[in-house]
Amino acid sequence: MKHGAFVFTSNVDGQFQKAGFDARCIVECHGTIHRLQCVEACTDETWPADDFTPIVNETTCLLENEMPRCPHCNGLARPNILMFGDWQWVEKHADRQERRLATWLESVDRLVVVEMGAGRALPTVRRFSERHGPRVIRINPREYAIPKAVGLGISAGASEALQLLDNVLGGNA
Ligand SMILES: [Zn+2]
Repeated sequence: MKHGAFVFTSNVDGQFQKAGFDARCIVECHGTIHRLQCVEACTDETWPADDFTPIVNETTCLLENEMPRCPHCNGLARPNILMFGDWQWVEKHADRQERRLATWLESVDRLVVVEMGAGRALPTVRRFSERHGPRVIRINPREYAIPKAVGLGISAGASEALQLLDNVLGGNA
């Protein structure tokens, strides 16, 4: 497509980047395990977790090496992931991603949103889709209902539905 695509995900595992999606075209609305932040949020900076390799005792499930540290206050560092009731989550990285998305959205006419596996339990992604109708394709084996004015729902798993759409559309769109 002329304007490419953008990923909006609540996944925190970096699998879209690993699968080859351009990191500049991904919003990780719940953060990422591949960045660290200060536990006390002494700064709004986050930094790559590349230098920290956890060594976990498989029997005790305990970390065996040193915990990562905040380079600013030397307190503990933690993954830059939004937890439940988490008031210390640093949003700066996700905010930067959201600003890039906003700029990209301004360049797009007739946006199509393909939503996959976004359940109602944590509706951040569903709400995002619904704000960007009326061309939302909701793919979900159980919670596929969507208002007609917003889009259409397909009751299927993501891989199966994408394969079927690809077959129908010839796969060279
Ligand atoms: Zn700190």
